[in-house]
Amino acid sequence: MNKQTKDKRITKILISAKDLELATTKVAQWIDKNYKGKNPLLVSILKGSIPFFAKVISKVTIDMEIDFVAYKSYTGKNKMEHPKMEIDLKQSIKGRHVVVFDDICDSGLTFAFIKKVFTKRHPTSLKFVSMCDKKAARQVPFKSDYNCFDIPNEWVVGFGLDYNECFRNLPYVGILSPSVYQKQTKHKK
Ligand code: 5GP
Ligand code: MG
Repeated sequence: MNKQTKDKRITKILISAKDLELATTKVAQWIDKNYKGKNPLLVSILKGSIPFFAKVISKVTIDMEIDFVAYKSYTGKNKMEHPKMEIDLKQSIKGRHVVVFDDICDSGLTFAFIKKVFTKRHPTSLKFVSMCDKKAARQVPFKSDYNCFDIPNEWVVGFGLDYNECFRNLPYVGILSPSVYQKQTKHKK
C-alpha cells in the first residue's frame, strides 16, 4: 500500500499487482472450499470486474460455469440518474448456486439492484464478491459476502476500474489525480 507511481495521472497506488495476485488466489480458494460439488455459476459484472474475475476463475480448481451481466451506473465519475441493466444472464439461475463479482462496492446500489433482480429468479444461494469496498460511500446498506480490500472514498482506477473507459488496463488500483477529471485530459499523460 501507499506506493508511488511514475504515472502522473495516478496520485497513489492503493493496491499493487502483487496484492491483487495474492487476493485473487484467496478468493479462488474460498470458491473451491465453499462450492465443491455444487457447480456454481460465477457471474461477472461487466466491464469493471473483468481482470479481477478472469484472475480468480483462472485459479479456481472445482467445476463451475460463468456468465455476465452489464449494469451501467456512471458516466465519467458522475452517477447516472437512471442506471440500467444493459446485458442480462443467458440462462436461468433457478436452483443454482450463484456468486456475483464486481470491481467495487461503492454506493451499494449495483449489488443491491442485482440482489433484488436475481433473488426473484430463485437461486439456491446468492453471494457477492467485491475486489474493493468504499464503505464510507454507501447510499443503501450492503455488505459483500467476500471483499478483498477496504479503500478510502476516492475515485480509483486500474485493474478494471475506469475513468471514461480509460485506465482499465493498469495492473494495479490507484487514486486518479483530480487534474485528470478537471482538465478532461482523456488520452494524454
Ligand atoms: P455502486 O453501485 O456500488 O455505487 O458502484 C458500483 C459501480 O460503480 C462499480 O461497478 C463501478 O463501475 C462504479 N464505481 C464506483 N466507484 C468507483 C470508483 O471509485 N472508480 C471507478 N472507476 N468506478 C467506480
Ligand atoms: Mg461497474
